[in-house]
Amino acid sequence: MSNRTPMPAGNWKMNLGKADALAMLEDLKARVAGTDGRDIVVAPMAPLLPLVIEATKGSNIKVAAQNCHQELKGAFTGEWPPELLAELGCAYVIIGHSERRAIFGESDELIAEKAVAVFRAGLIPIVCIGETLEEREADETLNVVTRQLSVVLDAVKDLDPAKMVIAYEPVWAIGTGKTASPQQAEDVHEAIRGILAKAYDQDTADKIRILYGGSVKPDNVDELMAKPNIDGSLVGGASLKAESFARIVNFQ
Ligand code: PEP
Repeated sequence: MSNRTPMPAGNWKMNLGKADALAMLEDLKARVAGTDGRDIVVAPMAPLLPLVIEATKGSNIKVAAQNCHQELKGAFTGEWPPELLAELGCAYVIIGHSERRAIFGESDELIAEKAVAVFRAGLIPIVCIGETLEEREADETLNVVTRQLSVVLDAVKDLDPAKMVIAYEPVWAIGTGKTASPQQAEDVHEAIRGILAKAYDQDTADKIRILYGGSVKPDNVDELMAKPNIDGSLVGGASLKAESFARIVNFQ
């Protein structure tokens, strides 16, 4: 058993408007009130961040933004900087989600710049990586995650990399109901730990949490979390309902 604190993180994406988000949180707070030793995170839509931060005050739930810009300020209509997220009371910023990479064209280099900006704002980046189905079938998984990670690892090496969170999310398992088997996920997580140790050192690699994401549900979370290199989950669909997300938080 590692001494990394497990992190169940719910990525609400563009779901849960104001009333639904607040109702979900009230229910979730009650269900996880007695849960210790987990870093529970929810990531609402950006305009709801102040409300959600207010609603989680005094609870054991922390708040992440789903994205940010890499600059501090300027003519970037429609964007927001990590400094503002810090001022509002966010703890984490998800960056490089496969939807940001695929739909919004974010590159490994841009994601690395965002990771630096997030650290400089005093927040912790949750850096998402993962291969597509074609890449897995071409046996490219480890090359892809190595490429995606190497730019970020180099960019944040002089900041506080041990605090960073990595989320391994095979793209073919996101929102599809197909989960990587616990052993498939563990194999990649173990390889990622090796990449981290090579980039930094074993001690730093052992501190960095590696979450698994891709159709995590109440009925598969226990097996996934039993693997030694799986330190938490990044959850989309099953994080939208308090009952299912609370079961994921309270994995056995
Ligand atoms: C995600 O979007 O990060 C995700 C893993 O979604 P889902 O749990 O719905 O597959």
